[in-house]
Amino acid sequence: MHEMAITQEIVNVVDEARLGAGENAQVVKVVIQIGKFTAVVPDCIKFYYDMMTENTPMHGAELEFNVVQTVVHCKGCGVDFEFEEVSFICPECGSGDTDIISGRELLVESIEVS
Ligand SMILES: [Zn+2]
Repeated sequence: MHEMAITQEIVNVVDEARLGAGENAQVVKVVIQIGKFTAVVPDCIKFYYDMMTENTPMHGAELEFNVVQTVVHCKGCGVDFEFEEVSFICPECGSGDTDIISGRELLVESIEVS
């Protein structure tokens, strides 16, 4: 994954939200929802975030990550199961006709300003 491009997106969203709170609002915390299936490394995001927000009121904010499990839905029998990083085969009926229904999330859930 391209953590740098993703972080740029996050910074844009945070900056926009921050401006909504006022010109001088200082960002203290950012909560990011991150799907396990994105394989994005939170430490990389933290690293780029610090780099990209240098000398802005967003710098130094605490980044909190809410990891969303990868859930797969079986179209064969209708069961939902957690993806175990090995296969998309349904553990109930053995069907391979499955869809990822969560785990791809990557969004800014909330920000805190002071
Ligand atoms: Zn099934």
